[in-house]
Amino acid sequence: MSHAAVPAGAARPVILLRRVVKSYRMGDVEVVALRGVSLTVEPGDFVAIMGASGSGKSTMMNILGCLDVPSKGQFYLDGVDVRTLDEAALSHVRNRKIGFVFQSFNLIPRATARWNVELPMLYMNVSAGERRRRAEAALELVGLADRGRHLPNELSGGQQQRVALARAIVTNPPLVLADEPTGNLDTATSREVMEMFSELNRLGRTVILITHEYDIAAYAKRVVRLRDGLIIDDRREVAVDAPPPQPSAVTAEEHIFSQGVSA
Ligand code: ADP
Ligand code: MG
Repeated sequence: MSHAAVPAGAARPVILLRRVVKSYRMGDVEVVALRGVSLTVEPGDFVAIMGASGSGKSTMMNILGCLDVPSKGQFYLDGVDVRTLDEAALSHVRNRKIGFVFQSFNLIPRATARWNVELPMLYMNVSAGERRRRAEAALELVGLADRGRHLPNELSGGQQQRVALARAIVTNPPLVLADEPTGNLDTATSREVMEMFSELNRLGRTVILITHEYDIAAYAKRVVRLRDGLIIDDRREVAVDAPPPQPSAVTAEEHIFSQGVSA
């Protein structure tokens, strides 16, 4: 990766993977999940990672999220070589720099929506009043200002995932990582959740999400495809600093209509 690839004046990459290899040993068998992956992600990008089951998507996401380390190669997160960090520094990075969203929401069932959103701040030096204020602001951002006192099972799947999104961003991390965030949602709800990701990206956060659905990948500015532990395609659809596309927010018919009235 040459420096010439980064335009003059561009901010440093949020993610820099260089020839990353990840292998797992299972008894006598070595499974190579990533075979030399190089990827640069600039601040403000919105990247969809696609690929068949077993292609290495989750392995890559776990490395990006500092939940696992490469067997070989380099990984810089926001300019920091994560190999130089000890366990305490790594958990600090996970807490401050990264917001995670999972397929299964991972909310605490006995805790209200607001309490779930407050949780990441418990490990930070934030007063109870400030925690509450920030949690309410995050819930408002995802359109759930009036649902703070509800338990997860009193919310729809889409609302639960939006609570998870509020929890992911409440600490104001520059990077949001999501592993199949719409995998458990129907089409309409998936769209609602993807519009939230678009909004976060518009507000300046870098988003990297895994999906195997084209409809979902269409919300991203860039689509990276994995096969057998290698990147086989890396396609930019929209400039990093452009607003994210909103593919299904407007139907073709509505679009023609709105062009007609605004002309
Ligand atoms: P994807 O998310 O694209 O479905 P994964 O990254 O989960 O793919 O898996 C890639 C490959 O690595 C698969 O062959 C999988 O079986 C293997 N793998 C993933 N995690 C482990 C692990 N903890 N131990 C052993 N093999 C693993
Ligand atoms: Mg996976």
